[in-house]
Amino acid sequence: MSRRPCGKHIILSDNDGARVSQCPCGAVHVLVKASGVTMQMDEERFHKLGLAVMGAVSAIGGSRSMQPTTPTRTIN
Ligand SMILES: [Zn+2]
Repeated sequence: MSRRPCGKHIILSDNDGARVSQCPCGAVHVLVKASGVTMQMDEERFHKLGLAVMGAVSAIGGSRSMQPTTPTRTIN
């Protein structure tokens, strides 16, 4: 498996809590906005981190806090 050189990051996800981007080399960067800290890890570790975070969110009450911000629309 050949590793590609570092370059321009692709934004995978971005919200008020964090911004996740991926380098062409495969490294995933997670910027935690609350602390301003960026964590860097490979895809496999990021996958596990994501599962841990999603599990925690759902334990807190994910359906309540993860409602999509859909525009209010009145249909008559
Ligand atoms: Zn890189």
